Amino acid sequence: MLSGKGGVGRSTLTVSLGAVLAERNGVVLADANVAAPHLHLFTGVVQEEVVESLAAKAVVDYDLCDHCMKCLEVCRFSAIIGGEEPIIFNCFCTGCGACSLVCPVDAITVQSVVNGRLNILDTGWCRVVAGDLDIGESGSGRLVGAVRKRARLEAEKRGAGFILIDGPPGTGSPAIASMKGADYVILVTEPTPPALHDLQRIVDVVARYAIPAGIVLNRCGMPEAGTRQMPAGLRARNHDLLAEIPLDPLLPAALAEGRPAAEAFRAAPASRAIRRLARTMENRLL
Ligand code: SF4
Ligand code: SF4
Repeated sequence: MLSGKGGVGRSTLTVSLGAVLAERNGVVLADANVAAPHLHLFTGVVQEEVVESLAAKAVVDYDLCDHCMKCLEVCRFSAIIGGEEPIIFNCFCTGCGACSLVCPVDAITVQSVVNGRLNILDTGWCRVVAGDLDIGESGSGRLVGAVRKRARLEAEKRGAGFILIDGPPGTGSPAIASMKGADYVILVTEPTPPALHDLQRIVDVVARYAIPAGIVLNRCGMPEAGTRQMPAGLRARNHDLLAEIPLDPLLPAALAEGRPAAEAFRAAPASRAIRRLARTMENRLL
């Protein structure tokens, strides 16, 4: 599930769609929005396991350092700042090791440090694998890869028919990493010009990887909607409009209860649209 723009209801839709699909197929939810994971907030969860995520980072032994600053000169990622002694900013350090190679006194080593974690959670109706990158840390693409891998393992263990990955907003490397190996990309948007503009950008990214994709138009009928006209580029790519989900006041109520809307208010218009979307995805992918 990708959207380009954040705030269009991608995560709430992921949870609701997951709850409907879980009724017949078994589902694993994966939160690949590792910089701000919040899938678990939309449904009650119990923590089952935490797996630390490690990244390679340069570490200076200041007892050995003679302050020559050769390491600063060679770092192409601006991860080292000078002064009286070199200071390494972990958030910019990629662990490339160039600084340790040029250090004349072997004062720098590249070590594995914790920069995030995988949370394995259980909702009662499905497993959730959520990546959680420490604030300001780099390496989101790698952690997203770990989320995907663990979600696949959980799905195999439980015989789940679907893995639903809630991708991050934007079109950068975390979004690309989240759709790697996917059978299908659901693109979520709402009928406003900014959302449709960003949808066009993520559509162009998905097209580069030749993954089948369809669009869900969320919050149809919202008062501030400027247009529900799809941009010309989207029409040209011939993407399916999978579902139009109406703006429904019961969705925030379900959110407040911490329950998937399609489960909490089964007869609500939005819930019925999400159930039709689930049938569509079953027909396409199973
Ligand atoms: S290259 Fe080595 S000795 Fe020179 S400033 Fe960096 S850590 Fe210190
Ligand atoms: S390991 Fe690479 S990125 Fe990190 S401080 Fe050293 S040269 Fe810079």
